[in-house]
Amino acid sequence: MPAFLNRSHPLCAAISDSDLLRTSAHLNGQWVDGVLGVTQAVTDPASGSELGQIASLSAQDAKSAVKAAHDAWSAWAGLLPQERTDFLRRWFELMLEHREDLALIMTYEQGKPISEARGEIDYAAAFIEFYAEEARRPNIESVTSHLPDAEVEVWREPVGVAALITPWNFPSAMLTRKAAAALAAGCTVVAHPSIETPLSALALAELAQRAGMPDGVFNVITGSAPDIVGAWMEDPRIRAVSFTGSTEIGRLLYRQGADTIKRLVLELGGHAPFVVFADADMEQAVDEAIKAKFATSGQDCLGANRFFIERSIYDDFCARFTTATKALRVGVGMDDPDIGPLMNAKAIEKQEEHVKDALDKGARLLCGGARHPAGDLFYQPTVLADVPADAKIMSEETFGPVAAITPFDTEDEALTRANDTEYGLVAYLHTQDPRRIYRASRALRFGMVAINRTKVTGAPIPFGGMKQSGLGREGSRLGLEAFTEVKYVCRDWA
Ligand code: NAP
Repeated sequence: MPAFLNRSHPLCAAISDSDLLRTSAHLNGQWVDGVLGVTQAVTDPASGSELGQIASLSAQDAKSAVKAAHDAWSAWAGLLPQERTDFLRRWFELMLEHREDLALIMTYEQGKPISEARGEIDYAAAFIEFYAEEARRPNIESVTSHLPDAEVEVWREPVGVAALITPWNFPSAMLTRKAAAALAAGCTVVAHPSIETPLSALALAELAQRAGMPDGVFNVITGSAPDIVGAWMEDPRIRAVSFTGSTEIGRLLYRQGADTIKRLVLELGGHAPFVVFADADMEQAVDEAIKAKFATSGQDCLGANRFFIERSIYDDFCARFTTATKALRVGVGMDDPDIGPLMNAKAIEKQEEHVKDALDKGARLLCGGARHPAGDLFYQPTVLADVPADAKIMSEETFGPVAAITPFDTEDEALTRANDTEYGLVAYLHTQDPRRIYRASRALRFGMVAINRTKVTGAPIPFGGMKQSGLGREGSRLGLEAFTEVKYVCRDWA
């Protein structure tokens, strides 16, 4: 069966440029349904209605994509840096031109509130703009010769074909954060978007093609992840793999990459602590806590999962945070609520499991704690207090709108408990004491530390985690590292 769109879905009526709605994979400049000709449904999580049937490609198609990207590589790598800049710049401009359509696609397939979707399109485009500039500066380091009769040089060269694997919670930004860096470095790309949200990635492939990207340079291959990504992990032509998703799949790819010694960037789970000391600005701490917990409907790797609050302000914080949580609007993304649907039934079950487990172990329910009447995939924003350390929510990502709060007595205790996790992506800290800010920023074993604020991300910053939150960094100049090799050349003068 060929892939197709459900033309009666409201997305088709709402979109201005219907050519952005692609259901086939993008392989070597062509829109293809693959050798098997099978498809997979993509649904709108707010209504449960089908958006269409998306091409589900095979391992054989995945290998064809690697061949196309490998064949295109030397010409792409051989362009002048400013020529790659020009392609990326045009892609960036097209994203901004089609911002509203791209946001609509995202809200209908992912569920996030439309203003968050617009924000993600801006965030996603910013990576292309940033790496369009960085493409001009390949950063060739020079070394002064240590040999009497030789001249030495150090070059940076693209690694080859890069495989990019992206999750459903940021379907555009996770792709551009990787692809723009890889393309700027001179690599060609095969990408696998989550089967939950392929339309955003396919719309970006359509815009890349309109930007004049040569055939084979940017391929988006939809279908079963174990088949497609599995084929890429075995293929020696894939030299770098950049993955964003769960720690569990990250571990699997780490193992699979060993046989062909691939470069790996792993952006994995978060489970962030949010620590509030008694000297914090309470109003600011509560406002930022709401953002840190409920952005992306709680389905954010940067989402705060564990709230540690100093005992003298604990009751006040719990009361204010609960009042603010109760005021949050839950609804379908197109109505621009604060919280939209979760991605799938598994996500709803996880909220239920974590809430029940915490209550069984003695936590207090301050609000929420059940499904929301807006639809099958909606969950009430929930606050749990006095959550014991052995509750699942204190050690596993909940990835939804449930906050777990617990008191602490000393700075040492707060930082020790914040660090007591296998994850190390981001930590949030609220205090007015500059010495404590310094001590805590040093002590927290997280790749990113946000002090008295929540929003810290953007194209110029090194995004990434310590411990089992991952390997490598994305964004900033460091985001180019995984996609380049260093070559040392030594010339004899004699
Ligand atoms: P996931 O299940 O690990 O999936 C991520 C990607 O891996 C998807 O494209 C998925 O494809 C693919 N995948 C699934 N099974 C695979 C396999 N056996 N081999 C190869 N690829 C496979 O994660 P998710 O549930 O989509 O996303 C949530 C997780 O991502 C959370 O843990 C969150 O913290 C993390 N995350 C981290 C960051 C960061 O920057 N650190 C950002 C966002 C999210 P299908 O969906 O098609 O199965």
